Amino acid sequence: MNASLSPYLLGLACTECGRELDATAPRGLCPACARPLAARYDLAAVRAKTARAEVAARRRGVWGLREVLPLGLDEAPISLGEGTTPLLPLPDVARRHGLGAVFVKEEGGNPTGSFKARGLSLAVTMARACGATDVALPTAGNAGVALAAYAAAGGLAAHVFVPADCPPSFVVAARALGADVVLVPGFITDAGRKLREVAPATWFDLSTLREPWRVEGKKTMGYELAFDLAFTLPDAILYPTGGGTGLVGMAKAFDEMEALGWIEPGRRPRMICVQVEGCAPIARAFHDGADEATPWEAPTTAAAGIRVPAAVGDRWMLRILRATGGTAVIVPEAAMLAGTLALSRAAGVLASPEGGAVWAAFERLAEGGGFAPGERVVLFDTGSGLAYGAALEAALSSVR
Ligand SMILES: *Cc1c(COP(=O)(O)O)cnc(C)c1O
Repeated sequence: MNASLSPYLLGLACTECGRELDATAPRGLCPACARPLAARYDLAAVRAKTARAEVAARRRGVWGLREVLPLGLDEAPISLGEGTTPLLPLPDVARRHGLGAVFVKEEGGNPTGSFKARGLSLAVTMARACGATDVALPTAGNAGVALAAYAAAGGLAAHVFVPADCPPSFVVAARALGADVVLVPGFITDAGRKLREVAPATWFDLSTLREPWRVEGKKTMGYELAFDLAFTLPDAILYPTGGGTGLVGMAKAFDEMEALGWIEPGRRPRMICVQVEGCAPIARAFHDGADEATPWEAPTTAAAGIRVPAAVGDRWMLRILRATGGTAVIVPEAAMLAGTLALSRAAGVLASPEGGAVWAAFERLAEGGGFAPGERVVLFDTGSGLAYGAALEAALSSVR
């Protein structure tokens, strides 16, 4: 047994072919089918030792969920206070649409201003536990700032590959935190290709779903929803989908909680994927009835975090949308911008454009009979609007 790994961690399994692997050398995708690997735990052992109320009462953020995370129980994580974000009720909005409740899960208060902190606290911690000195990823913005912060806190070197037209505030923030930032012409997929081309073998590649631990950080959002709703789950969750880590992570959390006996078996929130008209590969595949997505040509949207033309977790996401009776909504860019202001003003949060897309999708579904009366709906605002000055200015000048 490796002391840096949790005794509850059984290993990894491929999300497509089911192939099982040892968790001690998790580098990259499934060696058999090149799809994402996911962590497996001995949940029966956790269940025998741990009461849900005890875990819920800790409220210590991501790392308060120690029993379902991969790190050895006596090891110190690299933590900056990520997680335990507020679930804000919007009673007027619920009333207006005849819903039981509408909540915003506000992720902008995380370290570095987005929920990327959850995943990168895990991934950088695990990389360091496996001996890494250098960590790297391609990003449209927020993940690079989070990587830079956790690498700085953990004494590692960070290498961030961004599309050349990434919002400059992200580049400045990552550099201020000490990261080496490389601007690459093209999209996040091109930045990823560049990284894999130039990275020495010693660097740990923390690209979305190309290692198993960022999902383990993002799944904590699913646990927090259950904690905040007294172990009932909402009827629907609207999620701005890029690489899909949070979407698959929450679905994984619900499966784990069912195995732990923490939630009612068999009931799941409808998972609703929100994308923008300028980049909607998963939503297009969903509506085409396809099992996997074809890459989006020339993705354009100011919602940088969901400007992801191709995702290695596409099959995994599409399975979850269908298994939960969910759907996928494509929002026009102008509606996303207007939604950013509307969500900000409805909730009193400075919403991200990604959150604005979710707001626009919610309004469209609510007006089109997408929810049954009395249902409870959770909207994700995945980051702070602070880093998106240009998008907010565009929103202000288009909506008076
Ligand atoms: C990265 C990002 C997303 C997309 O997250 P995934 O889990 O990779 O789909 C959404 N919103 C913001 C603000 C982001 O930074």
